[in-house]
Amino acid sequence: MQNKAALKEQKIREYWQENDTFHTSVRNREGKKPYVFYEGPPTANGMPHAGHALGRTIKDFIARYKTMDGYQVKRKAGWDTHGLPVELEVEKQLKISGKEQIETYGVERFIEKCKESVFTYEREWKQFTEALGYWVDMEDPYITLDNSYIESVWHILSHIHGEGLLYKGHRVVPYCPHCETSLSSHEVAQGYKDVSDLSATAKFLVEGTTDEYLLGWTTTPWTLPANVAIAVHPDLNYVTVQQENEKYIVAEGLAKKLFKEDFQVVESRKGKDLAGVRYEAPFSYVQIDKGHQVVLADFVTDQSGTGLVHIAPAYGEDDYRVVQDNDLDFVHIVDEKGRYIEEITPLAGRFVKDCDVDIIKLLAEKNRLFHKEKYTHSYPHCWRCDSPLLYYAMEGWFIRMTDVKEKMQENNRQVEWHPGHMQEGRFGKFLDNMVDWNIGRNRYWGTPLNVWTCKCGKEKAPGSIAELRQEAIGSVPEDVELHKPYVDQIQLRCECGDTMQRTSEVIDVWFDSGSMPFAQYHYPFGDKKLFESQYPADVVIEGVDQTRGWFYSLLAVSTLVTGKAPYKRVLSLGHILDENGQKMSKSKGNALNPTELMETYGADALRWALLSDSAPWNNKRFSERTVAQAKSKMIDTLSNVFSFYQLYQQIDQFDGEKDNGGVRSTLDEWILSRLHSVTKQVNDYLEQYDITNAARELGTFLDELSNWYVRRSRQRFWSSGMTEDKRAAFSTLYEVLKKTAQLLAPFTPYIAEDIHLQLTGNSVHLTNYPKPCDELINTQLEEDMTTVLQVVELTRAARNTAGIKTKQPLAAVYVLGENCVAERLAGYVATIKEETNVKEIKLENNDDLFTYSAKLDFAAAGPRLGKRVGEAKQALAQIEQVQIKELLEKGKIAISNLELTKAEVIIEKVPSNQLLLSEGNGLSVLLDTKLTTELKEEGFVREVIREVQTYRKELDLPVEKRVNLYIDASPTVIDVLQKYTDMLHHNLVLQEVLYKQYEKAKGVEVEGEHLQLGVE
Ligand SMILES: [Zn+2]
Ligand SMILES: [Zn+2]
Repeated sequence: MQNKAALKEQKIREYWQENDTFHTSVRNREGKKPYVFYEGPPTANGMPHAGHALGRTIKDFIARYKTMDGYQVKRKAGWDTHGLPVELEVEKQLKISGKEQIETYGVERFIEKCKESVFTYEREWKQFTEALGYWVDMEDPYITLDNSYIESVWHILSHIHGEGLLYKGHRVVPYCPHCETSLSSHEVAQGYKDVSDLSATAKFLVEGTTDEYLLGWTTTPWTLPANVAIAVHPDLNYVTVQQENEKYIVAEGLAKKLFKEDFQVVESRKGKDLAGVRYEAPFSYVQIDKGHQVVLADFVTDQSGTGLVHIAPAYGEDDYRVVQDNDLDFVHIVDEKGRYIEEITPLAGRFVKDCDVDIIKLLAEKNRLFHKEKYTHSYPHCWRCDSPLLYYAMEGWFIRMTDVKEKMQENNRQVEWHPGHMQEGRFGKFLDNMVDWNIGRNRYWGTPLNVWTCKCGKEKAPGSIAELRQEAIGSVPEDVELHKPYVDQIQLRCECGDTMQRTSEVIDVWFDSGSMPFAQYHYPFGDKKLFESQYPADVVIEGVDQTRGWFYSLLAVSTLVTGKAPYKRVLSLGHILDENGQKMSKSKGNALNPTELMETYGADALRWALLSDSAPWNNKRFSERTVAQAKSKMIDTLSNVFSFYQLYQQIDQFDGEKDNGGVRSTLDEWILSRLHSVTKQVNDYLEQYDITNAARELGTFLDELSNWYVRRSRQRFWSSGMTEDKRAAFSTLYEVLKKTAQLLAPFTPYIAEDIHLQLTGNSVHLTNYPKPCDELINTQLEEDMTTVLQVVELTRAARNTAGIKTKQPLAAVYVLGENCVAERLAGYVATIKEETNVKEIKLENNDDLFTYSAKLDFAAAGPRLGKRVGEAKQALAQIEQVQIKELLEKGKIAISNLELTKAEVIIEKVPSNQLLLSEGNGLSVLLDTKLTTELKEEGFVREVIREVQTYRKELDLPVEKRVNLYIDASPTVIDVLQKYTDMLHHNLVLQEVLYKQYEKAKGVEVEGEHLQLGVE
């Protein structure tokens, strides 16, 4: 259910649609300097969440602001459509799992299903985007599954292939057994989780002995059946230790840790002397010809384990290399689903990572287990399906990123990062550790890798459909779709005379999205000029999790293609957390639904909450309450001020566009000065992308406008007829509201539009962002008014402390302070009187107001005075007022043979009788809380007036209706009221006050007195 706020926004949205305001705002800047924004494409097969709301709010903010600031900001939407997430979703839908079942189901049918599933939530995304007020061109988006998009990606890959940077290699890569495909290192980096695993120390029997073992250590016991070698460091010392009736070979540095006190060293030698020692592996399921011997490797240390490392070449990069260097056998015991192969008889068909315990049991049964231990470590999981990853040595296609690493680092140094620490920190470090990009995926739904290979070893990578057609054997259909299985049916002609087949992989989806600067405009086949005007981007904006995702893939692709960075600036946004600082997730039930929030509070409130709460780069603690507060504190305040203006504007038929004369009051000058100061600050902040502080400036300004300017000006609007003062009040408020709407337009586009439209008839989003007018800024006036506000605030605080109601008038307040406070406040005495309900504001200094007390500050004076602190304490107990003043003025004083400085004495003001002191910002306010009979009587009458006003409201009488007031009460009360007849008339719209009974009277209690009120 939409509430009032959402319905109001709906109307504004309709106005935008009818008037094509978004496109007009872009068209209006034709020929102006472009400000280039790239949209990071979301996937539409999941619902938008709170993080998307933040991202889209910031994106819209920047684009609207830059447009108003004079730039042309094209905003092409995009959809990320390929990849595993889509396939997994379809598998779920079809209730099938794994590649075998997909093949049985039929690849073509499967691909068609994927295509359908991609836009499952497109409608929700569009509605969400529109409701949030995110202006982006969704009618003409780039879509990564389009032939034109894929053709551009092919062009890029063809270029990379031509440079010799795309190669097929056999390497150990992270592999997801559930998705049955390898992943790239930046994908792996997105899914680390802390898990508890078992490590094992196994016994490898030295050949030709019956009791001597190499102790090999591993953190992945499941790999032990694939053991090929044991690695030792050539330069480490190794000892043979006798314990009970067995001997063990371990690194000397670890012997104590492994055997405690109870052992005896029988032999010692260097690691290199162990090379070639043959052993019997604990498991013999798989037969090997070359292996089961000690090899040397530099990566072995004596920091953990035994100093001897179990080597299984298929499952680790180091292992793989060491086995290749020593020309040993390669053993692979895991199938494509991550299960043991048949040969591993007791465990065949089981997921290997679940078998650590079984392996350890098997070792123990054979007396081959020396030790096992639980340990916790950070282990990579699939970023899509959450399965623990395995490391496999396999064939794959790689982009030689290591060749362009320095260029990437150099490009990164040119980028302006927000927050700045990302450049050298999270992103920079990621670049420092860059490895080659594993680009191929053994899957179905993606951009097909455009490499055709021949048995003779030749490769071809066509860079366009035309080139494909030219090289193809036979004809390629006119409407060929660049997806599996269609492209697989196309064969190319090889120079050797043979036919070339396409390699079966599709590519990493991150390569798709990283290619968007080019592919969104079908570069180089499409509008090249358009591409050139939109490259590179002035800004990209996404969540910090895109550091290893889109921020990286954009920079990588662009560096490979043009040698340049694709963006000048990156805004990296923090996560949205719940109130307790926990990550939001559906499963935890603490996720906020942004659509529901917008329906309850309106998009403006959600946007304001996101923009003003904390810097967008910080993780935010966020809750419904934050949005509710944004609505009541900001949106409602502004809307009340505007309603007030509108009410009187209609009564007086004031036309703000024409009538802007009048004689301005100090208050008018003040609010205009504030408006322009704030305009200046907001512009400065936004130039630096400091959105939060800009929002806060505006928030403060709104508060001043509502709670000071409008409240203090109310009576000026109430007066009848059009005076010069009233005209000034109107034109000032009109001007302030109009400019405020413009300033707020990128923050809260709906209410800003509503106000601006009603004031001027034109869309605020087609105007220029306000710039300050220095002549209207009066710094002195602003400072003075700040002081006035502080005096009022301090007086109220004193009242609160004394527990005296605001309605109770008080005799006097004394205001003391530095910087000529008296002179500066002289013109505001009447205002302060009204605001504080105090009869007299006294600004001159007066010695009788308070005395000073002085006592020794032991912490400050102790170290210097030592034993004399007692003396000093006594002296201060008898100090005279004049002496304290001397100390205050001169900073030091000599008493009883002692010299004390101001810093060593705690001096406090002690207000005189019935004065209440309240201090702050260099001001001292002393409130006279003495209540004379007269003051009490007046306070009483004011309470009566309030009761009558309340009663009138209850009766729903028109504000201007003059009535007879009947009062029946004790003679004393009537005596008092009669004294204040004038005051009653001044505050209540009355004909006459009659002190007699009234038939339908209402009984009220005022300060213990009973009164019967009648209104007629
Ligand atoms: Zn997976
Ligand atoms: Zn060939």
